[in-house]
Formats: sequence, C-alpha cells, structure tokens
Amino acid sequence: MRYISTRGEAPAIGFLDAVLAGLAPDGGLYVPEVWPLLTQDEIADFAGRPYPEVCAAILARFAGDAIPHVDLLEMANEAYAGFTRSAVTPLRQLSPSTWLLELFHGPTLAFKDVAMQLLARLYEHALTAKGQTLTVVCATSGDTGGAAVEALGGLKSVRLVVLFPDGKISEVQRRFMTTSARDNVRCVAVDGTFDDCQAILKSLFQAQGFPQAVNLAAVNSINWARIAAQTVYYFTAAVALGAPQRPVSFAVPTGNFGDAFAGFAAQRMGLPIERIIVATNSNDIVARAIETGRYARGPVAQTQSPAMDIQVSSNFERLYFEAVEREGLETSRAMRAFAESGVIEIPPKALGSIRELFVGVGVSEAETAKTMVSTFHESGELIDPHTAVAVAAASRIGSKRRQTPLVVLSTAHPAKFPEAVRAAAGVDVTLPNSVRGLVKKPERIDRLPADLATIKAYVRDFAGA
Ligand SMILES: *Cc1c(COP(=O)(O)O)cnc(C)c1O
Repeated sequence: MRYISTRGEAPAIGFLDAVLAGLAPDGGLYVPEVWPLLTQDEIADFAGRPYPEVCAAILARFAGDAIPHVDLLEMANEAYAGFTRSAVTPLRQLSPSTWLLELFHGPTLAFKDVAMQLLARLYEHALTAKGQTLTVVCATSGDTGGAAVEALGGLKSVRLVVLFPDGKISEVQRRFMTTSARDNVRCVAVDGTFDDCQAILKSLFQAQGFPQAVNLAAVNSINWARIAAQTVYYFTAAVALGAPQRPVSFAVPTGNFGDAFAGFAAQRMGLPIERIIVATNSNDIVARAIETGRYARGPVAQTQSPAMDIQVSSNFERLYFEAVEREGLETSRAMRAFAESGVIEIPPKALGSIRELFVGVGVSEAETAKTMVSTFHESGELIDPHTAVAVAAASRIGSKRRQTPLVVLSTAHPAKFPEAVRAAAGVDVTLPNSVRGLVKKPERIDRLPADLATIKAYVRDFAGA
C-alpha cells in the first residue's frame, strides 16, 4: 500500500515512511493511494474476536507487505496489554438505542492511548529496520501529549518534545505529561493557544532543511497511523451491534477531526455507517462548515472540554481532499487560501458529499454541563465533558432511522476532568490510582513564547543537531 499527499505534489511513499513522516513535503497530509476494501464476510468475521486480532487484520490492510502479519499481531497484543479492560474499548448501553464506546481504559485515561500505544510499536519496528533516531514534536490540546509521553517515554530511538498551551489544559492532563522522569521527554508550556502550538509544529515541518536535520516526526493525527489505528474500534463496536447486516451511527466529540475522519475511513473500507454526528463545543468551526458550507476560523474560546478548543482542524484537509474527489491541486489551493484569509467556501458538490455521511452539531457550555447531570441521573454514568458534548449532540440529532443503533465515542475518563465534572454534576469522581500518584510527583516544564524561531532552536538543541 502506498500513501499520497492531499496536496498532490509530493511523491507517493510506503507505509513505514508514512508512519515516520508526519506532514508531506508539499505541506499536505498522507492518505492511502486507494482505500482498502473489506468484504462483508471479512467484517462479519470480526464478531467476538479479541481486539488485538481485529487491529492486526485491519492494520495489515494499511501496511500491505511492509510489515509481516505476525509482527503486527505482536505489536497489537503488546499495545493493548496495559488496558484495564480485556475488550480494550468496551461498549456500555446508555438507553435502548444508544451506547457509549469507552475509549479511555488506557494508561492516560483518554482515547489518544489507543492509537499512541500502537504507534510507539510501529516506530520501534520502523526505526530498527532503518537504524534511525527520530525527533517527535507533538502539539497537544491536553491528551495527545500525555499519551505520547506514556507511549514514547524511554524509547531509545525517539526523542519527544511536547508543546502545550500554558494554563489551558486540566491539571491531570498536565501532570500526565510533566511528571515523566524519562530523559528522552521534554514538556514545553507555550504562551499561546493550541492552534499556535499546531501552527508552529506545521512550520517546523516546512522550515528549510529542519525536518531532515533533526529527523522530525509527528504523532498528532496528521500521522496516518493514528487514523488507521482509530478505525479499529469503529469496526469492533459496529460488529458487536449487528454490522455488517445492520448499519450503525456514531456521534464523535471533535477537535482536530482525526477521530471523525477515522469513521469516514471505516465507511470507505466497507463498514455500513449510516451517519456520523460531528459534535463540537463552542469552537464549532467544523460543525458550522458542515451546516453552512463555510469553513471559517474564529477566535479560540476556552471551554470545559479543552481537548476540543481548536479552530484549525488539521484533518479537515483529508475530508476536503476526499470531498473534491481527490483533486490534490484544488485541495492545495483551498488550504493556502485558508492560511491567508481564514475562510474556505466548500463547493456545493463537495458539501453534498460530506453531508451524505456527516452532520455537524455545536454544543454550548450550558448544554454540556446539563448533559453531564442528566446522563448521571438517568443512567448512573458519570461522563467527562468531551463525551457530554457528543451525548448532547446525539440526543439532539439521533440516527437517520430510529432503529439504527447510535454509538457515542466516550473519549476521556471523567477523572481526567474532575473539576468540570464536580462543577456540573456535583459529584466527586473516584480517582484511579494512576491519577492519585501523579499529585506527589515533581513536574518538569520549560516555558517558551509562541515563537517559531525560539521553539525551533529549542528542538534543535534537544536533538543535538
Ligand atoms: C483529542 C480529543 C478529542 C478530539 O479528537 P480529534 O480527533 O482531535 O477530533 C475529543 N475528546 C478528547 C478527550 C480528546 O482528548
């Protein structure tokens, strides 16, 4: 399987190179040259199989002959051995037609662990084959950083720099990153927003000679392996609820559109998904784009669901590329125009194709808080604020047909946002041991301005280049 850039001007590369690369040299994102297609029988056969087996079967379709199947299975087994549920991503019924898909049973209690644990094994595999050392720079809105520190901390062939927006993430999110004692990890509190951190990361990739000098890589959802790993739970959840005979709908709390795009990918691979509800907090650029056809950047507002306080959604580019029937040059034109003007007018035909699968819903802060309370009272489930955004959107929109099961992606454990849960639902979350231990550990943080040159020098220095 080969990977091409959404901007049409970079050479196609193999799976392992795509895993190591991050952004393509033309500024685009890698996508598979063709979508692997699973037969209905292959999908049906996933029913009742252990999660790592399904993961290896799906990843094999993305890896092609780049990785032997036995190695993929070993990586998947190792990646998910540390999850506290044997199902890895269990379903929990919320109402007769609604389920929560709990994606937060990994080491840092958010769904980012699901892909990151696998990505760490893919890195080791690829780097051993190539004899290289990588410098991973990660821009985080809170959860990717912790998952990356947990997964990549201690790896010999990887150095990790995490950029997070100072003061704009929860204390538990911060401590998962900053209390690591690994010497291959640096945490930088950037004086700015997540969008600033992400823009700096993208500029590092485009700085002349810099990616080559430090062997730069990205673990944000611009990395294709993240999306590939996240398609797996769409399959396991849908199959458990009757797919492929019966279609399933999903509601996805959305920031960078990586998780929602993984749903799109699963559908392209043959999974019958009726609808994906794209749920945003008041930073609703993606929801508005789907509703109105106008993708327009606004100021970032701080909310109870900080992992979604994002205005520039990097995976929107992958969606746009698909919606304009994979016209790389048109995608490139639109993204460059967006960088200058902050607006893309989605062509009507492309918008129509996006709306065949996606519905966008923006959820207010009050509705998010109210949903945490009502969900707790009605079902006894404490949900975190990100999950609450999706539950609220799901109850507003629902599936197309009433009998279609609706799966809400539950992206974080409520203990990761205990202040928000207490403020809304008046309930103290029981903290898992992993969170309680964090409070006693010392933090290591470097503080830097949101300035490309400063951060570039910092990364170069750490990489010893
Ligand atoms: C990252 C994150 C999201 C948003 O996921 P995207 O793939 O960026 O859309 C939602 N909820 C939580 C808890 C997250 O950490």
